[in-house]
Amino acid sequence: MSRILDGNRIRDQIKSECLPRVERLVARTGRPPGLAVVLVGDNPASEVYVRSKTKTAAELGMMGETITLPASTEEDELLAVIEALNQRREIDGILIQLPLPHHVDAQRVLLSVAPDKDVDGFHPYNAGLLSTGREGPRPCTPAGIIQMLKRYEITIEGKNAVVVGRSDIVGKPMAFLLLQENATVTICHSRTHDLASICRTADILVAAVGRPALLTEDHIKPGAVVIDVGINRVESRVEAERIFDAKRLADFDRRGSLLVGDVHPGDVARLSSAYTPVPGGVGPLTIAMLMRNTIECAERRTGIE
Ligand code: NAD
Repeated sequence: MSRILDGNRIRDQIKSECLPRVERLVARTGRPPGLAVVLVGDNPASEVYVRSKTKTAAELGMMGETITLPASTEEDELLAVIEALNQRREIDGILIQLPLPHHVDAQRVLLSVAPDKDVDGFHPYNAGLLSTGREGPRPCTPAGIIQMLKRYEITIEGKNAVVVGRSDIVGKPMAFLLLQENATVTICHSRTHDLASICRTADILVAAVGRPALLTEDHIKPGAVVIDVGINRVESRVEAERIFDAKRLADFDRRGSLLVGDVHPGDVARLSSAYTPVPGGVGPLTIAMLMRNTIECAERRTGIE
């Protein structure tokens, strides 16, 4: 029987550990840690994410501020907003909600966030700290996955880990974090030859691609631990038949679409020793880690160990 790695449970643990740290910061500094989220344009999915980030901050007694700017905002105006946030003492963390409108250079914008307030860990300075094994804010999704593996007492050291996907947000930082935990790491991507045979070497397989059920029984070594980062909406009946069992297919027919990860749900349940479901696996960890990163930025800025 494969074990289901429950992201909601780990999220709740991480959030409950945040509470005393917020109280300690309030006691030391007279103010809660502050997170500013910058949202440009009106992307409905981004609006949902931003609301749940500021709501979680409030639940933990933190200060969450959303700065909403119109889609027409010029790059220089956005840079000025970020510079003002860099200067504000009561803001410990700044998050730029992606994607940004096309006329804005996202790299330039991310570069303008003060590295000590970069709660997403996307600034090249913080990417450099990660790649050289130094302390600093880590990208939330991969950092949450490490927390998940550790809290389920899954050994990372000495294991073969394969990460599918090389984005700056998930794949690359995931690979560095696994390396830091002494795994032997392989990174695969869209130009990799014979993806299946490389994936089958994995004791820990992380899928961060964004393709519905790309990884199937051909990619999973029996007994592997499989972490599925992908969130994909399936809308085609033919695709749904390839992916879902009869019960889920009935759900699909009722709702007209269903979410699935990058790993085939039936195959992973049958072959792996443990896996993250979609939804309910990796997804819930990201916001909890964002809160933890904000608290850690506040602690570093106030000199608390
Ligand atoms: P991305 O599009 O930036 O990167 C995708 C990567 O997959 C690329 O590096 C590409 O080389 C690789 N790839 C594409 N096709 C491939 C193929 N056929 N074989 C092998 N590799 C291939 O995406 P991302 O931002 O890294 O996100 C990946 C997925 O994770 C998406 O579904 C996204 O929605 C999801 N995501 C989830 C969370 C969460 O909180 N659970 C957070 C971030 C991203």
